Amino acid sequence: MTHTLEVLNPATEEVVATVPAATAEDVDRAVVRAAKAQSAWAALPPGDRARLLRRFAVTVDGHLEELARLEVREAGHVIGNARWEAGNVRDLLDYAAGGVERLTGRQIPVPGGLDVTILEPLGVVGVIAPWNFPMPIAAWGTAPALAAGNAVILKPAETTPLTALRLAELALEAGLPEHLFQVLPGHGPIAGDALVQHPGVAKIVFTGSTAVGRQVLAKGSAHLKRVTLELGGKSPNIVFADADLEAAAAAAPMSFLDNSGQDCCARTRILVQRTAYDRFLQLLAPAIEAVTVGDPADETTDMGPLISRAQLERVRGYVGPDAPGIRGKAPEGPGFWFPPTVLTGVDPHARVAVEEVFGPVAVVLPFDDEAEAVALANATDYGLSGSIWTRDVGRALRVSQAVRAGNLSVNSHSSVRYWTPFGGFKQSGIGRELGPDALAAFTETKNVFLSNVPTSTEGLAQ
Ligand code: NAD
Repeated sequence: MTHTLEVLNPATEEVVATVPAATAEDVDRAVVRAAKAQSAWAALPPGDRARLLRRFAVTVDGHLEELARLEVREAGHVIGNARWEAGNVRDLLDYAAGGVERLTGRQIPVPGGLDVTILEPLGVVGVIAPWNFPMPIAAWGTAPALAAGNAVILKPAETTPLTALRLAELALEAGLPEHLFQVLPGHGPIAGDALVQHPGVAKIVFTGSTAVGRQVLAKGSAHLKRVTLELGGKSPNIVFADADLEAAAAAAPMSFLDNSGQDCCARTRILVQRTAYDRFLQLLAPAIEAVTVGDPADETTDMGPLISRAQLERVRGYVGPDAPGIRGKAPEGPGFWFPPTVLTGVDPHARVAVEEVFGPVAVVLPFDDEAEAVALANATDYGLSGSIWTRDVGRALRVSQAVRAGNLSVNSHSSVRYWTPFGGFKQSGIGRELGPDALAAFTETKNVFLSNVPTSTEGLAQ
């Protein structure tokens, strides 16, 4: 493996930057520095820690456009999304800062004294991020971990280290102590693996593929490391015949084309009740064809390129040239382009119907009744998110209860807000991030009992 990482602009294939790749020894040194910084950080009064995190949020806010432009260049995200992503980092830091003074234990009634729980920081936390949402996912782990009194070592994905490196600079500019938040770009099997196996790292927050997530869990177990896994998805978009079909068809394209389909929550299995199937496809086709694919820096572009040539080849491997369905347009020439694609007539057990493609590709499958819709929705190894379109409130509730996934939305596709919990069932992960309990996930609970039994008075008289 190389000692440097070459960052390409996925829309042009031009080299944007070359950065050093961390070695296992670099990880060792970073853990030593982080442990020292963490002790001092945890000893600060909570109000001071909160103030510094708020300053970090303000500093990010002052660099939103710069961060967004960097995301466009290294990840090919359309500029509107990239601005939202930088804003999400700011909001996560603000939200986590608000939790510092509210991270309280409990007082539990017991006979013979007082029982209290104390939430202590874990120590050094390793955050391993993927390339598909480099900034938000880095911040999902980093912001609450810091707020709970931990130090963080962030390893960004090989292809997208630049925004993470810039965030580390902004943290210092905001006044966060040196080495509290370190960013180590590097190869997964080297720097990532070293973090996972390091005895000085108390917890790993991993977001990425299910295959690597399994390895992280297995290797982390050597030290009984705390592990959160946010993994893949193959989420259903269930459209019942009683739904507002126009609204469902208008919303369907960007529910799987956003970020060129490189979204763990992408609704790539469109399940449509048979009696509404033809009408839905008639409405869907023009909506797909209207999606603009091109220069991600252009404000009017809906969808940019895929992240890399390897990802492009992977997506191509799932879609035969003659596969029936609806196809949009994509640019020709340099860049990793794939057109919006909806496949029809697909066997529900086919690989493209059950495996995560991580590209702008969805399948449409018909169903007859609610029971079949639920069975189809649950017929993958994943369980991350999903949507249910119906005007029947009782059905919306029944299906929400029956679908085995962590994040569901009714008559919409929204699923990720920094103040609500997020995570997967089944092979989509372990643990939850975001939401009101985010900070607590970066603590150990210590229980302390103080006896009220009178102590001997002997010795007091002297
Ligand atoms: P990946 O698993 O290849 O890589 C993710 C990260 O893990 C990268 O930083 C990589 O360098 C590192 N890594 C690779 N091998 C490693 C190893 N042996 N030890 C430690 N670290 C290692 O995934 P990817 O291709 O970058 O990301 C795409 C995947 O991420 C998709 O499956 C997607 O669904 C998933 N994802 C999940 C969520 C979620 O919240 N559930 C969010 C975004 C992406």
